[in-house]
Amino acid sequence: MASTTFDFASWPPALSDTQLETLTVYATSYALSHGLLYLPPTASGRQPTVPSSAIHAPISLFPAPFPRKLFDQGRRIQKAYNILYARIAMDEEFLDRIMGAEEGVGKVDDFIGQLWRGWKKLRDVGLVQPLQFGLFRSDYLLHAPANEPLSIKQVEFNTISVSFGCLSQKVAELHRYLLSATNYYETSPFLKRENFPANDNITGLANGLAEAQKAYGVPGSQILFVVQTGERNVFDQRPLEYELLEKHSIHIIRQTFDELAHTASLDPSTSVLRVAVPKDIHPSGQVEISTVYYRAGYMPYDYATPADYATRFLLEESCAIKCPSIALQLAGGKKVQEVLTQPGMLERFLGDEAKYGKDGVLSQEEIEDLRKSFMGMWGLDVAEDMLTPDVDAVKAGREEFGVRKAREAALSLVLKPQREGGGNNVYKEAVPSFLDSLPPQERQAWIAMELIKSPEDTGNYLVRAGTESQAPVKAEVISELGIFGWALFGGSTKEVKEEEVGWLVRTKSKDSNEGGVATGFSVLDSLLLV
Ligand code: ADP
Ligand code: MG
Ligand code: MG
Repeated sequence: MASTTFDFASWPPALSDTQLETLTVYATSYALSHGLLYLPPTASGRQPTVPSSAIHAPISLFPAPFPRKLFDQGRRIQKAYNILYARIAMDEEFLDRIMGAEEGVGKVDDFIGQLWRGWKKLRDVGLVQPLQFGLFRSDYLLHAPANEPLSIKQVEFNTISVSFGCLSQKVAELHRYLLSATNYYETSPFLKRENFPANDNITGLANGLAEAQKAYGVPGSQILFVVQTGERNVFDQRPLEYELLEKHSIHIIRQTFDELAHTASLDPSTSVLRVAVPKDIHPSGQVEISTVYYRAGYMPYDYATPADYATRFLLEESCAIKCPSIALQLAGGKKVQEVLTQPGMLERFLGDEAKYGKDGVLSQEEIEDLRKSFMGMWGLDVAEDMLTPDVDAVKAGREEFGVRKAREAALSLVLKPQREGGGNNVYKEAVPSFLDSLPPQERQAWIAMELIKSPEDTGNYLVRAGTESQAPVKAEVISELGIFGWALFGGSTKEVKEEEVGWLVRTKSKDSNEGGVATGFSVLDSLLLV
C-alpha cells in the first residue's frame, strides 16, 4: 500500500482492555525469555560481580510506522556515510583544524582537547597500527514541515560505543512474534509480515568485528571490550560476544579502564597489547589483543582519573586495531557534522577524483542524496560569511553572527556541545538565557542546529519494567531511526571496506526533547513500513 494512504494520526490502533493486557503479557514474557533485558538499577550505581536478576528493556507494543521509501534512502546512504567518516578519520590536517587543541574545538573543550593532545603526541612518535575500525550508527528523524513532502533528516552520526544493535534486533523479533501470536487482533491492514523488515544487527556487527580480527591476523588473539563500571546495558553487548565465539571462534575479554590500568601492557619492541589474566583462566597468564572495542570512553565521566586517560593512550599506542581510534572518535564530533554542511566539504571527501581515484568517488547525484539528509547547522563563533570564525567581533567585545542568529531563531533550534550519551543539548526557549551565560571563549565548542519537525500526531503503547501496575502507557510519540554500519580502513591503500548492517528505532514521548533509552526517556521500538 502506498504511504499516502497511511494515516499517522490513526496510530496505534485502539485495543480493548483485554487485548491490551494480553499483548502486554505476551510482550514482556517474550522480552524476558529472549534476553531483551537490562540489569536492574541499584541504589549505589554498582552492579554485583555475579549478576542474578534482570528486568525487561523498555519497549513499545506496536512497531513505528515509517515510509518505506525513506527507510530505503537511509540504508542506501549509509554506504556513503561509512566512507565519509572513514576518510575524515584519515585526514589529520582536517581533524587538527576542526577538533584540535591548537586551532579547533579542543582549544576550548577540555575533554576533546585531552583526547586530541594524547593522539597528537602518539602521532609525533609514529602510530604503529595504520588500520582503523568503526562501528557506526547514523540517526534520523522524520521531517514534516508544512507544505513539504515527508523526508528524513540526520540527527547525528555516532562513531563510538554505538548501542542497541543487539536489543533492537530482538525488538523487531518481538513485534514479529506478536504479529504471529495475535495478528494484532486484526486492528490494521498494515500489520502484515511483509511490512516488518528483517534486522540482522547481531550477525552484521559481529561480522565487522571479525573482519578487524582477521586483518590483525594473529591466531588466538582476542577482542577486548572496554566497558563501563556498573554498566546495566550488558544484554546489548553479550550477544556480540556469543556470536563472535560461535560463528567466528573469537574469544572476548571484558575490562573496565580501572581494571586495564593494572592488566594492560605493551610489548616494548612490537607494541603488541596484552592483558594479564589469572593463570587458572588462561595458562599463559595473558592474552594478546587484536581489536579494542570501546563501549566506554565517550564522555568525560568515563575518565574518572588521569590514569584512565593514560590507559586510553596506552591502548591507542598499541598495534591492536581500535574501534574507534581517537581520530575516529573525534571525527564523530558534532562540530564535524556542522562543518560537513559547509559548501564543498562533501565534495572534498567524496568527490575528489585526484585523491581517491575514479572508483573511489561518488557521483554528484549520490552526494546530493546524502546532503538531502542534513539540517541547517552553524557554529556559534562564526562570522557572517558562515565559514570563518568571527575573530573581529570577539576582539571588539561584540557577539558573533552565529550567536545573534541563534538568538533570533531560538525557538526552532537546538544547541549542541561536543558530547555523547544524551542530556547535553539546549532547546528552544532555553537558548537565549543559555547564550547569556555561555562564556564567549566557549562558543567555539557549540553548534546550532535547526530542529527537525517530526510528525506529532502519532502514538504508541510504551511498556516499562518496574512501573507500579506494569500497565502500558499510551502516549503521543516521536520515533528516531538509526542505521548501523561498519568500516575497516587505513593502511597504505587507504581503502575503505564497509557494510551497511541493520537498524534501530527508539521512540520517545513527544513532550521530551531528548530520547535516551539508557537515560530512561524512551523505549526500543521497531519498524512498520508503510
Ligand atoms: P547525543 O549524542 O547525546 O545522543 P543527539 O544529537 O543525538 O546527541 O541529541 C539527543 C536527542 O536530542 C536526539 O536523540 C533527538 O531526540 C534530539 N535532537 C537532537 N537534534 C535534534 C534536532 N535537530 N531536531 C529535533 N530533535 C533533535
Ligand atoms: Mg543521539
Ligand atoms: Mg551521539
